[in-house]
Amino acid sequence: MEVFKLEGSYVKALRCRECRKEFPPTKVYACIHCFGPLEVVYDVDSINLSKASFDSRPRTIWRYRELLPINDWKKIVDLKAGYTPLRKCDRLARALGLKTLYIKDDTVNPTGSFKDRPAAVAVSKALEFYVEAVGCASTGNLAAAVAAHAAKVGLPCYVFIPSNTEVNKIAQAATYGANIVAVEGTYDEVNRLALQAAETFNWAFANINIRPYYVEGSKTLAFEICEQLGWKAPDHIIVPTASGALLCAINRGLKQFNELELISDENTRLTAAQPEGCSPIVKAFKSGKDSVEPVEKPQTVARSLAIGDPADGVYALKAVRQSGGVAESASDDEIISAIKLLGKTEGIFAEPAGGVAVAVLKKLAESGKVSADDEVVCCVTGSGFKASEHILEGAPKFEVIEPNLKALERLVVKLRK
Ligand SMILES: *Cc1c(COP(=O)(O)O)cnc(C)c1O
Ligand SMILES: [Zn+2]
Repeated sequence: MEVFKLEGSYVKALRCRECRKEFPPTKVYACIHCFGPLEVVYDVDSINLSKASFDSRPRTIWRYRELLPINDWKKIVDLKAGYTPLRKCDRLARALGLKTLYIKDDTVNPTGSFKDRPAAVAVSKALEFYVEAVGCASTGNLAAAVAAHAAKVGLPCYVFIPSNTEVNKIAQAATYGANIVAVEGTYDEVNRLALQAAETFNWAFANINIRPYYVEGSKTLAFEICEQLGWKAPDHIIVPTASGALLCAINRGLKQFNELELISDENTRLTAAQPEGCSPIVKAFKSGKDSVEPVEKPQTVARSLAIGDPADGVYALKAVRQSGGVAESASDDEIISAIKLLGKTEGIFAEPAGGVAVAVLKKLAESGKVSADDEVVCCVTGSGFKASEHILEGAPKFEVIEPNLKALERLVVKLRK
């Protein structure tokens, strides 16, 4: 018989990722000694989980409750994020010269991107901290995800975004009732302003002052991949990368499942996929450096990945190298082509970030860095509906016909050619 631990968490402490000093798990995010970022440490030895533990659990991120930093389970904000399909993609695999390929399809999350995972944890945590409002600095998807979860519990929400964010993402966040703070500048400038706001107001900023908790939500993506593969880790995971938070979370998730013996011998190679116009982690990887040089003015169709100064860049770089993976970039044209290839082979409509992952996988398959026999999971993290203005330019051209059979027959003759 399984006993659910309904109150309290297995969180032991927050630990500095630089000097390793530990702190009580409160609303803090930087080390008071060295200003390093903090991460959640669990009392893994006390966690008792078996594969059968999951049989009767909800098909959402909350099924992995022991590994999430929630104290008050009555306060979780649940839009049913997570447990998205792991789609076996044979037609795309064939097109790329691979045998076993899965798309982890996070386009079907409640607000259309994987950001619902960390946002659900962040807004739940914000309620525990009794803040006046929640917020975030976002390239668009996090804004929508935080806004939707805040709406569900009636918490005021402030989303800080670059003014050139896609209209659909802004429309989405605004419809969920968020206050839109559109800033003229790059994401990094938006982030600096949000940091000042976090220090000025009693607000919980998902990816700033409660970031250690926020990032934990994204680990569920790795947990699900392993569970959906029959409790094992794949050979490769391709991760669209901006700040590096998702890639680091996937890495932590694999390690934790391994530690709990839910999977064995985890040898997954992690690949960071970035758009050419904003690829600081790829540049560092290719030049063999340990530090990540910020990109001043990101220029890319993949707006959700346009973070020039990645907060978790060095940690993501380290995770990629330690796992034996690579970091690779794709141009705007390659990204749009990959979106179309994914759409027409598998019926999945991705935003450019997902196109980046597929385009990078195509390169790695061609160069042999991913071999035909490897089992590959490619993360498609956001829906094409969020960025159709960018995709439309590359969409197939079509002809408008008169409403009669003659016109239709003429068209079909042309289309068949
Ligand atoms: C945020 C985001 C990512 C990854 O971002 P990180 O900052 O590296 O965690 C990937 N894809 C989409 C669609 C996103 O919105
Ligand atoms: Zn420190």
